[in-house]
Amino acid sequence: LIQLFMPLNFIGTVYREIKQGLTDIEEMFNLLGVAPEIVDKPGAPDLNVAAGAIRFENVSFHYDPERPILKNVSFEVPPGKTVAIVGPSGAGKSTISRLLFRFYDVTGGAILIDDQDLRDVHQASLRAAIGMVPQDTVLFNDTISYNIRYGRANATEEEVHEAARMAQIAGFIETLPQGFDTEVGERGLKLSGGEKQRVAIARTILKAPPILVLDEATSALDTHTEREIQAALDTVSRGRTSLVIAHRLSTVVGADEIVVLEAGTIVERGTHGALLDKNGLYASMWERQREADEAEERLRIAQEEE
Ligand code: ADP
Ligand code: MG
Repeated sequence: LIQLFMPLNFIGTVYREIKQGLTDIEEMFNLLGVAPEIVDKPGAPDLNVAAGAIRFENVSFHYDPERPILKNVSFEVPPGKTVAIVGPSGAGKSTISRLLFRFYDVTGGAILIDDQDLRDVHQASLRAAIGMVPQDTVLFNDTISYNIRYGRANATEEEVHEAARMAQIAGFIETLPQGFDTEVGERGLKLSGGEKQRVAIARTILKAPPILVLDEATSALDTHTEREIQAALDTVSRGRTSLVIAHRLSTVVGADEIVVLEAGTIVERGTHGALLDKNGLYASMWERQREADEAEERLRIAQEEE
């Protein structure tokens, strides 16, 4: 029995280690946005970011050939401008951000940055140019400091702390016994969705990339924290080409253009004012959000009065 027990226990240990290793690799792909099947062309040159113009040209995409997700999507983000993508859940908004990061290749059309097709450039150089705050942030099994510094490996301690302050996470980190050296992830402290999101925002602030992609970057935060972080995000996106996928429409009122996506197709586009005048899908989404906000406000006041 003992003889049998030992090897099984040993196998169990090895299995756990392998499994842990796999999790790390998956997380790495998640973080880097590299799908293992995407391979660089031999000798692919680095992306040369000049002004930082993004162009989606008749982009089509499916995960499964039976089910088209994006159909002929075309839009541009001029250098330094902000374009917002809004629309119902499942419309294909996050897919757009994954394609821009070349997590997958388009199945039709092309995506270009400063006239270079993403499929022709070195992936690492593409990722270096883009700061991405994804909808669900996965952290490395390492310290908070490491996770923030991942945005720019040579950043100083002071710069890491400053980024954390701007992302409204420094106060929380300082309450931890080991501060910035606290281990997070599977083997360490489990952070809430909002805390992870703020770590990702700090990482992006530190990286200060020419192109910014925010996918519902503040969706896991309460309204108060969201407002404060929005200010930090506005600072980072100033002068940077930004693609913002919005959860709360109030965060995209000032966008240079708002693209309304429904079932993988652009159904409306324009500025906030122009879209309200149109009285279409955007206007009805705006109205619904306003009603929800008012209801939330009434609830808050009622709770305060109790
Ligand atoms: P949104 O961000 O607008 O809510 P997504 O881009 O995440 O929408 O998803 C668009 C559609 O693609 C959804 O129907 C979703 O179920 C599907 N989808 C997303 N990711 C995958 C995937 N990895 N494999 C298959 N289908 C997916
Ligand atoms: Mg999404």
